[in-house]
Amino acid sequence: MNAIEVTGLRKSYGSVHAVRGIDLSISAGEIFALLGPNGAGKTTTVEILEGFRSRDSGEVSVLGFDPRNEGNAAREWRNRIGIVLQSTSDSGDLTVVETIDHFSGYYSNPREVDEVIHAVGLDEKAGSLIRKLSGGQRRRLDVALGIVGNPELLFLDEPTTGFDPEARRAFWTLIENLRGSGTTIVLTTHYLDEAEALADRVAVINNGQIIEISTPSELGGRSTAQALVTWRDGSEVKSEATDNPTALVNKMTAIFNGEIPELTVTRPSLEDIYLRMIGKTHE
Ligand code: ATP
Repeated sequence: MNAIEVTGLRKSYGSVHAVRGIDLSISAGEIFALLGPNGAGKTTTVEILEGFRSRDSGEVSVLGFDPRNEGNAAREWRNRIGIVLQSTSDSGDLTVVETIDHFSGYYSNPREVDEVIHAVGLDEKAGSLIRKLSGGQRRRLDVALGIVGNPELLFLDEPTTGFDPEARRAFWTLIENLRGSGTTIVLTTHYLDEAEALADRVAVINNGQIIEISTPSELGGRSTAQALVTWRDGSEVKSEATDNPTALVNKMTAIFNGEIPELTVTRPSLEDIYLRMIGKTHE
């Protein structure tokens, strides 16, 4: 069974058509990233899946449950999902450990509080008041609160905003570990390297519609895109775009009779491809 099934999802705010017919299937155990510029409709889509926003039309199933339903079934369902929102409310007068401990009480099968604190790298701040944390440390606490319930499905909305590079790498390791335990993860991010490092598949969304769903390596024809070969020839740096970089490098090896000075062979990055896709459809 798919963890998430969405067909024909639509949502408008007055005259703003935020989501204009989205279809999505996300498998259990998959890490799925939603990419798109500000205002594309990512948060609206994700918050409908989380049961925090109403929809105008379309079918939605999340872990076999329609998130707009309420009552006991909804409470049981909520117990199975974890959520890291874009911004969280303040609970500044509690410590890190108190906050996580408090939240763990909402779940029937929570993780150990110490384990969660360690997983997000907040060991040294466990006894600190929330209001004394830095922005990046606050964000790590948000992530801790998202995973403390041991969720089957985790929603992460721009989880690493404000993280320093080391914290981002540590976060990626945490996500890899969650993947290993079979957690399905829906991630929205503006960091293309993060999507590339983590996601099994990405969806590019713009103006409320999905432009393409693919693996990071194949998005926008990336895997078959022309390669750019550059090298130094005397005082000049030369370059050539080619469909067949191996043949070009072989030819050059013969010309240089061995090592090609400063040789690089590159294909478009996920960011190059993404910007091309977004540019093409920007209204
Ligand atoms: P970002 O990357 O900036 O978080 P996003 O892709 O998550 O953007 P959404 O927050 O889903 O985009 O917004 C989609 C569109 O809907 C935008 O034009 C936004 O202004 C509008 N919108 C979102 N929430 C509301 C709301 N509560 N009331 C009115 N308009 C809204």
